[in-house]
Amino acid sequence: MADNKIADVPTEIPKHPRVFCVATRGRECWLLRFKCVWCGRFHQHGGGPLEGDPDAGHRVSHCLDPRAPAGYDLVVARVLP
Ligand SMILES: [Zn+2]
Repeated sequence: MADNKIADVPTEIPKHPRVFCVATRGRECWLLRFKCVWCGRFHQHGGGPLEGDPDAGHRVSHCLDPRAPAGYDLVVARVLP
């Protein structure tokens, strides 16, 4: 069956996959939030000073799911006013 052929192909999560996030203004800095594809929870990272644009990029993972990578590259998909 086709499904078994697919299941036999090993899958691998890239070491630093891109993760889209939403930037919101926190009290002291930008907050970068996303719904995690590995555990289903929301994770949040700091995104730099409010005076500039939100600063995304590489972060050490906040995810506790064993399938999650050690880190990811955050990409701002939307900035909320
Ligand atoms: Zn997670």
